[in-house]
Amino acid sequence: MTTRMEDVIIVGAGPTGLALAAELRRLGIGAMLFDRLVEGANTSRATVVHARTLEVLEPLGISDVMVARGIQLRAGQLREKGGKIKATIAFDELPTKYPFVLALPQNLTEEILVARLRELGGSIVRPIEATSLTQTSQCATLTYTAAGTLVQELSARWVVGCDGLHSMVRQAVGIDFTGGAYEESFVLADVEMDWPMSSHAAANTLELFLGDEGITLIAPLPNNIWRIIATQANPPQHPDVQDCQAILDARTVAGAKVHRVVWSSRFRIQHRVADKLRQGRVLLAGDAAHVHSPAGGQGMNTGVQDAITLANALTTAIRSGDESELAAWEEKRLKIAHSVVNTTDKMTKLALSSNPLAHLLRESMLGLMGHVPALEHAVARRLSEIDNR
Ligand SMILES: Cc1cc2nc3c(=O)[nH]c(=O)nc-3n(C[C@H](O)[C@H](O)[C@H](O)COP(=O)(O)OP(=O)(O)OC[C@H]3O[C@@H](n4cnc5c(N)ncnc54)[C@H](O)[C@@H]3O)c2cc1C
Repeated sequence: MTTRMEDVIIVGAGPTGLALAAELRRLGIGAMLFDRLVEGANTSRATVVHARTLEVLEPLGISDVMVARGIQLRAGQLREKGGKIKATIAFDELPTKYPFVLALPQNLTEEILVARLRELGGSIVRPIEATSLTQTSQCATLTYTAAGTLVQELSARWVVGCDGLHSMVRQAVGIDFTGGAYEESFVLADVEMDWPMSSHAAANTLELFLGDEGITLIAPLPNNIWRIIATQANPPQHPDVQDCQAILDARTVAGAKVHRVVWSSRFRIQHRVADKLRQGRVLLAGDAAHVHSPAGGQGMNTGVQDAITLANALTTAIRSGDESELAAWEEKRLKIAHSVVNTTDKMTKLALSSNPLAHLLRESMLGLMGHVPALEHAVARRLSEIDNR
């Protein structure tokens, strides 16, 4: 058994752990970052990057790189089946350097973060799986398996759990993850297709179809790929061309023709927030701290913002011993997590409910939004997360 002492250990090299490791390194703090996977996940998952995320990533010098590799979406259109527009959420008037939603698959966001981390001299140690955690007032100690078998210990002044929804770190320190699960499943598919709306201005918009059959979102991705996200009662594990075609035919506009499914998946969603983000020498960020409906595409964005703001507070704590910034970070990020979970929960329930009253409320709200630009603007502002500054 060997024990090493680090300043910071980050468990999990998803977007949250990568952003934290890179920003700490930029601030002069070397953190050990490890992940149990042999290599990073190469699937698209979270598709959109919001304005506030690009703002917080600016000091790392990667926002322009991300913008160059993604597609700038200027608006989200809420439509009914057949294509009639009910409301438009315009992003191009937001008071930010990034007045758009950036369509960029999560694997590319992670690739850019990894490249920056390496440029700054950092690395990811893989495959290492943290299996248990104990702590004293001075440090936290992780037990881990490397390459599946060898059990060792690592200690650090701070351990940050960026280890996702089923976070071992969160469970080891006994922080409750309060919330629940939705009944509905979501289909996710990246496809090559003829999309009739790509021939006009809608090519640079997110298209959200709301109807009795469910919600369907269509967004363009780089390399002529389209992302389909749709609610469905019992979707297959890997939706194929026919499954995607059936969704588009039943819920969107005539003329869509799916040629190939590049990647597809289904997932069920939960809405939960950790009761706290700190327990002694242990901190939580990203999906380990909050998960919610993909409505609005806030998941990865909120995690990356947790990470960048945590890097600053942690650097102060390490350099001066002053932990007041950490306390302020926890308070602010918990408030934001609750707000994201509440908003996306309301949006999801309203959009999914088959209850006639909820249906009526949804139609009235859409009608109101369609006629009150201030309301559309408020939704755009909320989604962009720029009020988290
Ligand atoms: C199929 C799918 C589709 C999605 N679609 C969207 C979307 O459209 N929009 C959106 O906003 N979000 C979406 N998400 C959610 C988004 O991917 C997450 O919010 C984001 O990945 C969170 O980042 P994270 O770094 O906090 O956690 P993760 O990306 O989950 O990373 C956690 C990392 O920790 C590692 N790890 C876990 N346990 C251990 C351990 N014990 N020891 C070592 N390493 C460990 C894992 O291997 C993983 O690499 C989707 C997720 C999935 C799975």
